[in-house]
Amino acid sequence: MKQKGWKDLPPGSVVLEGGSAVNFKTGSWRAYRPIWNKENCIQCLLCWIYCPDMAIKVKDGKRGEFDYDYCKGCGICALECPGKKGKNAIEMIEEGK
Ligand code: SF4
Ligand code: SF4
Repeated sequence: MKQKGWKDLPPGSVVLEGGSAVNFKTGSWRAYRPIWNKENCIQCLLCWIYCPDMAIKVKDGKRGEFDYDYCKGCGICALECPGKKGKNAIEMIEEGK
């Protein structure tokens, strides 16, 4: 049976397997890698809120490591991180260094 294209579907159709980024490991796009310096982290979770890729793991209300499979290295988390006493808890380094 020939599969239908989107133009063949009537308005309001339900597509059972919708688009998802889960299967796309976008971390391979990264030119810069964020590094978490735990000693400067105040667990404010701003990095988690601002990350556009949900690439920061949180468990029991505490920030965990980066999920490098999905982190694209945009640096937003490092920009927003207040850190402890003005010492940023996220540093961006060149990928591969
Ligand atoms: S660098 Fe960008 S994509 Fe990676 S964890 Fe930070 S905010 Fe998310
Ligand atoms: S924004 Fe910075 S201080 Fe806040 S949880 Fe993230 S790494 Fe820690």
